[in-house]
Amino acid sequence: IAFNVRPGHTAKDIAEKNALTDGMTGLSNRRYLDEQIMLEYFRMKRTGENLSILMLDVDFFKLYNDLYGHIQGDECLKSIAKLLKNSIKRATDIAARYGGEEFVILLPDTDEDGAKKVAETIRKNVEDLNLEHKDSKISNFVTVSLGVATFGSQSEVAPEKLVQKADEALYQAKNNGRNRVVQITQPIQSLEE
Ligand code: GH3
Ligand code: MG
Ligand code: MG
Repeated sequence: IAFNVRPGHTAKDIAEKNALTDGMTGLSNRRYLDEQIMLEYFRMKRTGENLSILMLDVDFFKLYNDLYGHIQGDECLKSIAKLLKNSIKRATDIAARYGGEEFVILLPDTDEDGAKKVAETIRKNVEDLNLEHKDSKISNFVTVSLGVATFGSQSEVAPEKLVQKADEALYQAKNNGRNRVVQITQPIQSLEE
């Protein structure tokens, strides 16, 4: 159960909270993230402020599980989740578990420079956790790659495609050697349409 039960919390409160939260990490789940992306996308269109999305994927995590086992794999993901929770500063920022070992961070009212800083800080802080990963091909410790995409009010990328842009940047970060941040600057249009 992802939600701390306290006196005064009804079964309905708990059920509602759990529907929005990833049970293993306590971060927001994908469903909640997708809802908030929609809201923030339309708010961005109204206000003209930038909206940034970060996508993070653990490097060589299959090899981590193969060497240390799934239980420790889960512990590793929990440590990264905790770090992400501590890395976001504003009330409107959201850290979510997107899939197995993939996380998304939503940063409303955040421009390219700000998003890049947050991403680079996260990358460095994961490195500094010094979680041993003897089978990683690029380090003796667990590392992560991040893709960053920033949108402005002139952007015509459909709201349901925003995460895909961050994922494209992540793909480049993997191809460029991993343990790094790659940023896509101000995607105006969805190229694959
Ligand atoms: P890359 O650097 O390219 O990202 O390599 P990778 O091995 O991380 O990528 P791949 O997508 O091949 O493997 C992801 C692995 O993550 C598969 C699975 O073993 C592991 N994984 C996914 N979700 C979980 C989870 O919830 N718990 C644990 N322990 N492992 C998970
Ligand atoms: Mg992955
Ligand atoms: Mg991975």
